[in-house]
Amino acid sequence: MTVYAAPGQAGALAEYRTRYDHWIGGEYVAPASGQYFENPTPVTGQTFTEVARGDAADIERALDAAHGAARAWGRTTATERANILNKIADRMEAHLEQIAVAEAWENGKPVRETLAADIPLAIDHFRYFAGAIRAQEGSISQIDDDTVAYHFHEPLGVVGQIIPWNFPILMATWKLAPALAAGNCVVLKPAEQTPASILYLMELIADLLPPGVVNVVNGFGVEAGKPLASSSRIRKIAFTGETTTGRLIMQYASQNIIPVTLELGGKSPNIFFEDVAAAQDDFYDKALEGFTMFALNQGEVCTCPSRALIQESIYDQFLGDALERTRAVKQGNPLDTETMIGAQASNDQLEKILSYFDIGRAEGAKVLTGGERADLGGDLAGGYYVTPTVFEGRNEMRIFQEEIFGPVVAVTRFSDFDDAIKIANDTLYGLGAGVWSRSIHQAYRAGREIEAGRVWTNNYHAYPAAAAFGGYKGSGVGRENHKMMLDHYQQTKNLLVSY
Ligand code: NAD
Repeated sequence: MTVYAAPGQAGALAEYRTRYDHWIGGEYVAPASGQYFENPTPVTGQTFTEVARGDAADIERALDAAHGAARAWGRTTATERANILNKIADRMEAHLEQIAVAEAWENGKPVRETLAADIPLAIDHFRYFAGAIRAQEGSISQIDDDTVAYHFHEPLGVVGQIIPWNFPILMATWKLAPALAAGNCVVLKPAEQTPASILYLMELIADLLPPGVVNVVNGFGVEAGKPLASSSRIRKIAFTGETTTGRLIMQYASQNIIPVTLELGGKSPNIFFEDVAAAQDDFYDKALEGFTMFALNQGEVCTCPSRALIQESIYDQFLGDALERTRAVKQGNPLDTETMIGAQASNDQLEKILSYFDIGRAEGAKVLTGGERADLGGDLAGGYYVTPTVFEGRNEMRIFQEEIFGPVVAVTRFSDFDDAIKIANDTLYGLGAGVWSRSIHQAYRAGREIEAGRVWTNNYHAYPAAAAFGGYKGSGVGRENHKMMLDHYQQTKNLLVSY
């Protein structure tokens, strides 16, 4: 067991600045307005740094820097860009612990996960897109004896990216890696709750990228995000966040007829068919573990399996075992490597989750475990902790239909295959789903019937770079990860040549 020292304490690995400016043209730049806002750590609730409050003037300065760099960066070869991406990955790997601790401190997530998953996955994304861009080919079509069509890939130019707070480095990487590989320059706006770990990364890789290729403007959604997404100086906007914000982003982008990628919210079903309980073996154990995935990252995951659907015939047994497993999830200091569930990312998020406890109870749902704020005492007493919570109710309830974004699962029962699919698809969203069955035939059929971009089958919450990720219905437009992502950051140029 290791408990990492918090920034400011003796032996701390990751030190924070007391003030974070914007990152523009490869250096820190103070906000035009001179305004800053405070950033508390969810671990203790104490403010640890202040952050530049960006606005339209700062976005313009960042766009100037990006446009200044775009021509030269866009003309580098795929091999040159791939080499830089690989160096970024190497640099991150050499500082894995520092980045992992920084991320845990700012977001409240357990360092156990940032060490084992978030940061290694981010590193792998840079390597994956370094490989993908080198392997990308153009094409030639012979139209007739005298005419040939050549197809080339070209970068879009300068692109905007807006990301949420739940996986700060990973969400930044999902967008930066393909954009940079394809030869674009970027203006990125992090979430106001979690800019520091991304700026820490910018400093770490500053010497690897030409100035202006990546620029970070901090600030709030309407003040900094809207001028970026509405700008006529970007050729694409990529957004990850809430579905309601995604609707606005589409409206802003429509003014300039630019492509939009939207990775939005979810209310993912996790379906347990009766054959999972046919034996008390490793498979059953894995399925129970799959149930507890709703608490991973404190439930602050767009694909959180926040609706558990259990077949009638095994309902009592499976739910009983799943509750026991849920109560064993260790909550504590995010900087402790034993901790499995840490703090919610912000006080607003904490309040939102607590309000859903009231909503669920008022609707007549039954709390089977949890349902309250967790007081961890000592230094953590002011932190934003919630006990993992299991509700039992019906799919039409708000706790089944609305994204809570906390360690909360709403459980219900289904009678047969068709009933499971009907309940699973009865939602605005279509991002993720889990299917658990020993019958691969049944699991396959369910996977094809569920309206979601990602269906995990006998596993959950794996995010390999080579697997396409994105939403159906209200969960978004476009895909991330997979080499197909390069298409979202490139134009196709056709030269039709007659000889
Ligand atoms: P949010 O929509 O409130 O904010 C996301 C980002 O958008 C932030 O940077 C915010 O400042 C900015 N923003 C807010 N209003 C804006 C506006 N009017 N114009 C431009 N920018 C604006 O979302 P959040 O609360 O930060 O993140 C949680 C949400 O993100 C959840 O709904 C979750 O499901 C979703 N999410 C989706 C994925 C995915 O891949 N589908 C991944 C992670 C998170």
